[in-house]
Amino acid sequence: MKYVIIGSGVAGIAAIEAIRSVDAAGDVVMIGDDPHGFYSCPGLAYYLTGELHDKALFPRTADDYRKMNFRYVKGRVKNILREQHILEMDGQTSLPYDRLLIAVGAQAMPLEAPGANLEGVLKLDHLEDAKRILKFARRGKTAVVVGGGITALELVEGLVSRGMKVHYLLRGDRYWSNVLDEQESKIVEHRLVEEGVKLHYHAEVIEVTGKNNRVTGVRLLDGKTLKCDLVAYAIGIRPRVELAKGAELAIDRGILVNEYLQTNDPDIFAAGDVAQIYDPATGRSVLDSLWGPARQQGYAAGLNMAGKKTAYIKSPPFNVTRLAGLTTTIIGTVGRGKDADVVGIARGDSETWRQLPDAMVAQTGFDVNHLRLVVGDKTLLGAIVMGDQKLSFPLEKIISGNIDISSIRERLLSPNARVGEVITEFWASRKN
Ligand SMILES: Cc1cc2nc3c(=O)[nH]c(=O)nc-3n(C[C@H](O)[C@H](O)[C@H](O)COP(=O)(O)OP(=O)(O)OC[C@H]3O[C@@H](n4cnc5c(N)ncnc54)[C@H](O)[C@@H]3O)c2cc1C
Repeated sequence: MKYVIIGSGVAGIAAIEAIRSVDAAGDVVMIGDDPHGFYSCPGLAYYLTGELHDKALFPRTADDYRKMNFRYVKGRVKNILREQHILEMDGQTSLPYDRLLIAVGAQAMPLEAPGANLEGVLKLDHLEDAKRILKFARRGKTAVVVGGGITALELVEGLVSRGMKVHYLLRGDRYWSNVLDEQESKIVEHRLVEEGVKLHYHAEVIEVTGKNNRVTGVRLLDGKTLKCDLVAYAIGIRPRVELAKGAELAIDRGILVNEYLQTNDPDIFAAGDVAQIYDPATGRSVLDSLWGPARQQGYAAGLNMAGKKTAYIKSPPFNVTRLAGLTTTIIGTVGRGKDADVVGIARGDSETWRQLPDAMVAQTGFDVNHLRLVVGDKTLLGAIVMGDQKLSFPLEKIISGNIDISSIRERLLSPNARVGEVITEFWASRKN
């Protein structure tokens, strides 16, 4: 059996591990076009701030790869010829497959404004982008950051920590409005201001201005102009569906797969950021851009490719991140609506977070330690934990385990409830 995996991200690596757990002898080939191979994308934020050296981004050693026993081909796949079971590569070579996994991830939505192709207009998709940002970041100079979600903040923080003066432009009236509630947005915005970031609300770039092909500033919809030396943007991502489209596989926003991560061609699978996953719990097909789910999907796809039929059961999305220096865990369903700063989905984001049903909200905390629970009829549907993380672990277990919380529901929803204490007691009583 010849297994071929396109993409050297976490979904592709997990697929190889799964294939090897079933089939020690099959021929496994991975094709990747990232010159750095496999590394931690969430870690890029800490590389930008200088907290992590780039060497620390690589979770696997050469020895690990040897043990996984696969061949790595550096290059870009241009076409999938389904009839012949052949991949066409850049540079005219071709490669046969019996089972194929498309795990090519997603890419930043482009900034569509005149001047967006000037040098110094930057995005953050991969390690090369991060290196490029650092090349342009200069102490004492000025940056404009456009967009929303986690990546925009990572850009803001990275540039601030490199000594740049940063203008952060929001199209709407608050940060990440379809995931965070007003109080949570305020907490983040307040911390940014304390770090010296200049926030601009209802601000939209209509032109990036430049001289000698270098950025000199931005012009905004309301007529204002800002001088700057670089523009960094994170206005959403889109799954790289071009290969699947060329091969006439079924796509919607991502590549459509069933619960076995199989496309409408039984020999072709898709996983990770590029895949639009069927979620049996909601009956919808959704996109995630999260490391954990990409890994789980890749693993399930690998098992299925090797003949061990295994359904991927989507668990409530879970992300631990840092927002303006504040550790924040987001679990399950927490928000709703649209965010003016992000088209579609952002990195480190899940569409499931925004399918908020009619549920009640219990919240507690002030300023940095903040806890919000989304309470359903019998279960907790979601939670946001900012600051103190003591409750993230029990909450993740309570939410993903669909644990019946009827016994504490009333206390959680009572006015001025000490929500944290109620959860702590509930969790302790279950363990005893
Ligand atoms: C800056 C940043 C911050 C993030 N923060 C978080 C976070 O806080 N929490 C979280 O959970 N997730 C976060 N994510 C998202 C997470 O990293 C992704 O969900 C995950 O990496 C997706 O893995 P993947 O294997 O599907 O795709 P990717 O990691 O994108 O890998 C796909 C690979 O395929 C390659 N490729 C594409 N087309 C071809 C082709 N035609 N031929 C050959 N190779 C090709 C690409 O170059 C890439 O190397 C972040 C991502 C970024 C970039």
